[in-house]
Amino acid sequence: MTYDIMIIGAGPAGLTAGIYAARAGLNAVIFEKAFAGGQVTKTDLIENYPGVASITGIDFALQMQAHAEEAGAKIMTVDIDRVDFSGGIKKVFAENEMYEGKTVILAMGAQPRKLDLESELRLAGKGVSYCATCDGAFFRGKDVAVIGGGDTAAEDALYLSNIVNKVYMVHRRDALRAEQYLADRINKTGNIEMVWNATLSEITGENLVDGIRVLNKISGETRAIPVSGTFIAVGMVPESEIVKGQVDIDDAGYVVAGETCATSVPGVFAAGDIRSKKLRQIVTATADGAAAVAAVEEYLNKLG
Ligand code: NAP
Repeated sequence: MTYDIMIIGAGPAGLTAGIYAARAGLNAVIFEKAFAGGQVTKTDLIENYPGVASITGIDFALQMQAHAEEAGAKIMTVDIDRVDFSGGIKKVFAENEMYEGKTVILAMGAQPRKLDLESELRLAGKGVSYCATCDGAFFRGKDVAVIGGGDTAAEDALYLSNIVNKVYMVHRRDALRAEQYLADRINKTGNIEMVWNATLSEITGENLVDGIRVLNKISGETRAIPVSGTFIAVGMVPESEIVKGQVDIDDAGYVVAGETCATSVPGVFAAGDIRSKKLRQIVTATADGAAAVAAVEEYLNKLG
């Protein structure tokens, strides 16, 4: 079978594309390797999506998935590991299975960046985590560190502050990158201590995390902080590995595409966090999903 659209990834961009494609009467499939929802499932509360004042990430993901399925979108649990966009008909592969479509929407999103410290990799899952909402409960009443100064780190620190005894928020500069309202909330939270101008040099512990060592970039001093958990929130890396060499990618690894989501390859579109753009939010991912399907329709109409 040749699909009209093959959508890779069932985060907000992919699910929105699925809804729009189904409503447009297109023969579409969404390939998802894990759970629908993407990064949303790892978010505690969503409070900036219009019309939804406050909702948990899990509930939002479930509602988006249900909406897409009710609209008629087909979601398949398949891990696409290779693509071939060289011909008019696009091919994607999962191990030895091949799927074909007239168009593709890349909606694989992004995943948490690692610091690549030896101790970080060794203690991953043993007190080192990349998801506060997934793992925070393991550290009830204990002290933890959050590394990073963006929206994710700020939200993680606030979320953890309600569960743990104390949060040390380690940031390499003297001001947060996070939105001001989050910075204000952090300032008002008694059990979050900011550790400014500091980089993480080591996470200590034999089999479980028992502390961190941070280097103050101004004084040159190293400080040891006893913690049971370390949450790393230093940004995202786009999941573009499988399309490298097939579509244009920018220096940071994002798929180059403008507002129509069209990539350097005709018939291939990029939507959501994987696309080169300024603001990565749920609302911009869903907008991309809709825009990409509109562009697909235009492309298919031209094909006749
Ligand atoms: P981000 O905005 O890129 O922030 C990453 C943070 O980690 C920055 O503070 C950065 O420091 C720091 N960092 C990066 N590499 C580091 C390293 N090697 N060592 C130490 N620190 C390092 O990433 P994010 O917070 O994951 O957010 C990603 C996107 O999602 C953003 O566009 C964000 O606005 C969005 N987001 C939005 C919400 C929301 O609206 N509620 C929630 C979560 C995420 P510098 O500041 O010095 O660069």
